[in-house]
Amino acid sequence: MAEHYKPVKYKPWEMTLEERFQEYHPALTEREAVLEANRCLYCYDAPCMTACPTSIDIPTFIKKIATGNVKGSARKILEANLLGATCSRVCPVQELCEGACVLNEDEKPIAIGRLQRYSMDYAAERDIKFFKAGESNGFKVAVVGAGPAGLSCAGELAKLGYAVTCYERKAMSGGLDTYGIVVFREPVEISLAEVRMVEELGVTFKNNVSIGKDITMAQLVEQYDSVFVAVGLGNVPSMGVPGEDLEGVVDGLDFIEETKVKKLDEIKHGKRICVIGAGNTGIDCATIARRLGAERVTIIYRRSETEMPAYHFEYQFAMGEGVMFMFLTQPIEIVGENGKVVGIKCVRMDLGEPDHSGRRTPVLVPDSEFVLPCDMVVTAIGQEKHNEMLHALRAFGVKEVKHYISVDDETRRTAHHKIFAGGDCIRHKGEASTVMAVQDGKLAAAGIHKQLAGAGTCSTDKKTVSAPNK
Ligand SMILES: Cc1cc2nc3c(=O)[nH]c(=O)nc-3n(C[C@H](O)[C@H](O)[C@H](O)COP(=O)(O)OP(=O)(O)OC[C@H]3O[C@@H](n4cnc5c(N)ncnc54)[C@H](O)[C@@H]3O)c2cc1C
Ligand code: SF4
Repeated sequence: MAEHYKPVKYKPWEMTLEERFQEYHPALTEREAVLEANRCLYCYDAPCMTACPTSIDIPTFIKKIATGNVKGSARKILEANLLGATCSRVCPVQELCEGACVLNEDEKPIAIGRLQRYSMDYAAERDIKFFKAGESNGFKVAVVGAGPAGLSCAGELAKLGYAVTCYERKAMSGGLDTYGIVVFREPVEISLAEVRMVEELGVTFKNNVSIGKDITMAQLVEQYDSVFVAVGLGNVPSMGVPGEDLEGVVDGLDFIEETKVKKLDEIKHGKRICVIGAGNTGIDCATIARRLGAERVTIIYRRSETEMPAYHFEYQFAMGEGVMFMFLTQPIEIVGENGKVVGIKCVRMDLGEPDHSGRRTPVLVPDSEFVLPCDMVVTAIGQEKHNEMLHALRAFGVKEVKHYISVDDETRRTAHHKIFAGGDCIRHKGEASTVMAVQDGKLAAAGIHKQLAGAGTCSTDKKTVSAPNK
C-alpha cells in the first residue's frame, strides 16, 4: 500500500513529553486541502464511497471543499456519519476508502481521511450545529454503552424525535474513542465534542451506571420501547501463566487509558518493556511505551509476521518508533523478584498445520526455554466478552454466535423484538472498527424506527412487556 501520509518528522530527543503525544498527522492548511480536493476525479459510482462502511458521499464532500463550501462539506459527512471527526482520524483508510481510490493505480490516492478531518475541524472551530432534535414522537429508547455504536444510534434516533437515554458505566462517554485510541491519533477532546453534539440533540446521558449492576436489563426492557445494546468488549483476558499478579504486569487497555486521562509525567512505566500480543492494541501499547521514554520495547508474538493481526501500516509505524518484534515466541511465565517483574520466560515456537481460521498453528519447539529480562509486561492478547451481559440477554431469548450477540443483518434486531445490538459486541468475524460500530448504530436506529413508527403506538403506554423466557 502506498505510504502517502508524510508524518511530522519524529525526533523524540528534541521533543517534550507532551509534544510526543500530540496528534501525529498535522491538519491540512486551506491551500493544501483545496489542492488535494482538486486532484479528485469525482468518480461516478465512486469506489471510495462503496468502500466506506457508512457510505459517506466522498466525491461530493471533496467537491464542496474544492469550491469553498466547507460548511456544506461537513454537513455531507455528518449526514452519513455523526462521528465524522473521530472517523477522519482513526479509520484504517488504507484498507477502506483510500485503498479503493482509483488513483492508487497511477499515482497516490486522494487523502480522503485528512480532507474529512479538514471539514470536521472547520465546523468544530466555528461551532456550527447542523442538526436538531426531531419533534417528539412519544417513544423512549435506552442505549446501553456510550461508545461509537451507542452514540451513533442515540444521535440518529434523537433526530427522529425519540427520547433517548444512554447508560454508560464509565465517568466519560465515548467508549474506546475516549479511553482506548491513542492520543496521538485521536485527542480525548475530539471524542468528547462528539458526545456533546449528541447531548445537544436532547439525548440524556447517565454516566457511572452499569447495566446489570445498578439497573437490570429487565428494568430497561420494561421501561423503554426499545433497548440498544452497545457494550463493546471487556478488558484484556488473563494469559493463564504464573506471575501475572506481579507488580509491573499491566492490562494493555488500562495502560492506554492512563495516557488519555492522566498527566503524562505521572504515568509509571518500565525501562525494558515486553508487550504480549501483536494486534493493533499491542502495537499501540508498544508505541506509547516508546513515546513515554522506555528504552527497549519488545512485542512478543507466538506466530510469525505473516499471521500477526495488526495492520501492515501499524507494524511499519511501530518499527519506525524503534519497537522490536520477537516472533514465534510464547511466554510461559512472568518471572519476579520481591514481588516485581524482572523477566519473562518464553519458549520458541514453530508453525504447524492451519487451524479453523486458516492461520498456521504454533507448535512448541522442545528445550527452547529462555528468559528475556524486563521490568514491565503489558498484556494485549485481545478483549474479553461481556459474559454477564450475555447471560442477562439469554434470559430474553437473545441468541449468540461464538459469545457475540446475534442480530439480524439489516436491522440489528436480536431474537427479542425490543432488543437491538451493535458494535464490537456483535462482531464475531472480521475486523472491528469505529466506523463499523457507527454504521451498526445507524442501522439499529433505522430498525427501531421502522419497528416503532411502523407500529404507530408507544408500547410502554400499553405496558406490553414480554417476560423473559427463562
Ligand atoms: C486499543 C484499541 C485501539 C483501537 N484503535 C482503532 C483505530 O485506530 N481505528 C478504528 O477504527 N478502530 C480502532 N479500535 C476499535 C474500535 O475502538 C472499536 O471497534 C469501537 O470502539 C467499537 O465501538 P463500540 O461502541 O461497539 O464499543 P466501545 O467503544 O467499547 O464502547 C462500549 C461502551 O459500553 C460501555 N459499557 C460496557 N458495559 C456496560 C454496561 N454493562 N453498562 C453500561 N455501559 C457499559 C463501555 O464502558 C463503553 O463505553 C481500537 C480498539 C482498541 C481496543
Ligand atoms: S475514488 Fe478517488 S478519485 Fe474517485 S471520487 Fe473517490 S477519492 Fe475521488
